[in-house]
Amino acid sequence: MEYKTLREEAFEANMEIARQKLAKYTWGNASAFDPDKGVFAIKPSGVPYEELKPESMVVIDLTGHTVDSTLRPSSDTETHRILYLGFPSIRGICHTHSTYAVAWAQSRLSVPVLGTTHADHNTHEIPCTGFMSADAVKHDYELETGNLIIRTFQSRKEDPDITTMVLVAGHGPFTWGESAVHAVYHSAILEEICKMAYLTLTINPRTQPLPEYIIHKHWERKHGAKAYYGQK
Ligand SMILES: [Zn+2]
Repeated sequence: MEYKTLREEAFEANMEIARQKLAKYTWGNASAFDPDKGVFAIKPSGVPYEELKPESMVVIDLTGHTVDSTLRPSSDTETHRILYLGFPSIRGICHTHSTYAVAWAQSRLSVPVLGTTHADHNTHEIPCTGFMSADAVKHDYELETGNLIIRTFQSRKEDPDITTMVLVAGHGPFTWGESAVHAVYHSAILEEICKMAYLTLTINPRTQPLPEYIIHKHWERKHGAKAYYGQK
């Protein structure tokens, strides 16, 4: 099997979507990117998780051509491709329709930092994009979804190496990371953050964001120069 390691990585990540219960039916996809070969492996379109195998992963190059597969790739493949081109440091992408993240995306609200669970992973709000224009949808919906995410990050001066998640308005979450499995991990974290934020604002709709000094303490102890979270 060609691209064996890359396919296995993408397969593992897609199975982790199912294990973490982040998608019903086939509503999620993950991909793994190999920058040296300039290709990524992604879930085939419409194949249930229980039928997936490493060899069913579809290998695509950065021009969008299928290099190795008889199966059709995920319908979201163009979004993955544009993100790999726009955010060159990322090595894996995950997209799901997990309930709480979708609820925030449908509400078209960025998720404020309300507590330390969020601050452990990100020091600022999780961005939500605007709606795509009618022309963009007509042109190439999935490709333009990728462009919308990149434009949102550029206009908000977000660093995709730090903010590894986004909500696409009216649609749902896309996350990424240093590997495909890491991208799925970020989808699971995002779902929990969205759930906690929803519950918090339900209990007290006037809840204010966490003070900056607590946000930074949590971020620094996990990711800063003098991080002391976990084992050496
Ligand atoms: Zn979707």
